[in-house]
Amino acid sequence: MFQAISHLQTDIEMIHGDFKGKDIVSFDQFEVADLNTLFTVTRQMKRIAENNEPSRLLEGLLVGLLFFEPSSRTFSSFSAAVKRLGGQTIEMQNPEAFSSVSKGETFEDTIQVMEAYTNAIVLRHRISGAAKQAARAASFVPVINAGDGNNEHPTQTLLDMYTLYERFGRLDNLTGLLAGDALNSRTIHSLLRGLSLYENNTMYVLSPRQLQLSRDDFVSLQDRGIRLIEIHREEDIPQDCDFWYWTRVQKERFASAEEYRQAQSEIVVATPELLNKYASKDMILMDPLPRVASVDPAVDADERAVYLRSQIRNGVYTRMALLALVLGRI
Ligand code: ASP
Repeated sequence: MFQAISHLQTDIEMIHGDFKGKDIVSFDQFEVADLNTLFTVTRQMKRIAENNEPSRLLEGLLVGLLFFEPSSRTFSSFSAAVKRLGGQTIEMQNPEAFSSVSKGETFEDTIQVMEAYTNAIVLRHRISGAAKQAARAASFVPVINAGDGNNEHPTQTLLDMYTLYERFGRLDNLTGLLAGDALNSRTIHSLLRGLSLYENNTMYVLSPRQLQLSRDDFVSLQDRGIRLIEIHREEDIPQDCDFWYWTRVQKERFASAEEYRQAQSEIVVATPELLNKYASKDMILMDPLPRVASVDPAVDADERAVYLRSQIRNGVYTRMALLALVLGRI
């Protein structure tokens, strides 16, 4: 039913300053001006959420959360974002077990049913390209990609970039270390697209060779001007990174438990010792979570670790902003 699509999306609609009614399937749709708009709105949203201000911005609107793959943060933060703004949700998790999908309903039919009931659909799916396919099937409401297979996770990148922007006051001239499963991590794929919109960013990508970026991704990202340096050993970690972005090995993308175990055994784990040895005192340590043998919990007390602090909270604020913009209420 699905065809995996190339990571470089070609026929998607750019935002070009107008979010209203647009599907958000790839970070390729964003330009710097769109991120400026989104971050300005995010600051307002943060105030609303932090002060528990009652908001009617999305009053009268329903958003469908259709999650074919497990999720903790993305699902609950979208749900929180809608409700913080006075909207309502229809929530379907695991539709393959709990909806007519289990009776054989096609993906397109499920999407069209959801669009008949709602004003926007937030979709997570295990198959790369599913968000784009849903966007084609839904003619009346926008579809937001909440993670499609190992392809992209654009709203994670909004919160990751907002977190970086809040900390450093800029998104250019950054040096980062992206570690873990670069091949399969959709959050790394979208983040690299986002950071390639800005000047003079250098990203070290630390992974075992079998988990390095696909050669297509490597070449197409480098062509955009971002400097990518692939490293495979802890000893090659530079000491001047502004941020580290740790990711888990994406178990669900492996053909066998043995292949997963093998890849996992070659991963560098972020421990207090690793930070002591290679991290600058002003850097931040991010992780899209869940962490599974990626970041040692002993690191949590370190103030530089933001994954359980600003990074997860920013997920609600940026998603509030995106929904308000896409639903044309701001
Ligand atoms: N939660 C993120 C995602 O859905 C990261 C992960 O699962 O590793 O891609």
